[in-house]
Amino acid sequence: MSDGRALARAFLEQQRLLGGDPVILPDGATQGAPGTPGLRPGSVGAQATATPTSGTPGASSGNTSARPAPAADLPPPGLSFDPPGGDLFSNDPIPQAPSLAAIAQLVAACTTCRLCEGRRHTVPGEGPGDAQLLVVGEGPGRVEDETGRPFVGPAGELLTKILAAIELPRERVFICNIVKCRPPENRQPQYDEIAACVPYLFRQIEIVKPKVILAMGGTAAQTLLNTKQSLGALRNQVHRFRGTPVIVTYHPAALLRNPNWKKPTWDDVRIARRLIG
Ligand code: SF4
Repeated sequence: MSDGRALARAFLEQQRLLGGDPVILPDGATQGAPGTPGLRPGSVGAQATATPTSGTPGASSGNTSARPAPAADLPPPGLSFDPPGGDLFSNDPIPQAPSLAAIAQLVAACTTCRLCEGRRHTVPGEGPGDAQLLVVGEGPGRVEDETGRPFVGPAGELLTKILAAIELPRERVFICNIVKCRPPENRQPQYDEIAACVPYLFRQIEIVKPKVILAMGGTAAQTLLNTKQSLGALRNQVHRFRGTPVIVTYHPAALLRNPNWKKPTWDDVRIARRLIG
């Protein structure tokens, strides 16, 4: 797409998917400075809050900016967590699991923590083994527990839209959670449950070798970065997990509760997209 107006339309479609205010592009000739699409609010008195990416790193008018930006536009480095790998000479099967399917089999039979007691299905995660982006959430909810698939239901639909907005179809992303069984009443997983389950995630990351990890929600971020810092404090930095960049953002379920977080989430996923290139 080389035409500026077409780029602007694509951008506005992305904003619409993410819940931005409507903006109508007039059909006439491009207005304003060269390369700047003529925008007007969708209704009289409406605020032009969907003006393309004002204040967004690496953004400019008429630029869909799903494209990579110079590294200088990236946020500063943050935390780095490099946990030791599993002992290949032990009897622990997780570090030796040769594939994502093998991990899913181990998860299906796992009774290591109390979360196995109430589950209907385990939810190991899904996606290609060579995904460039790996998304990590907290744990399965009701629909995930019923289906055995991660990020389905309303929050999953929103994640699918977010990924489409950065031109990464869901099918090309590996999507999983910190814990693979549903905590009762959707409570937060407890520390010992996370500690019991996280070796599966670490092995999944080793196998997929993503270019970027997107940690959605505080539990995912704090686990991957081994910190108690709040999600707000962890955003807008490029952290590292065993050398792989980690971007922290809100969980889609939180976005459904608080639409004001859609804009910062959009900023975060665009950083992840830029890192992928
Ligand atoms: S949550 Fe993880 S560690 Fe606990 S039973 Fe399920 S798969 Fe095993």
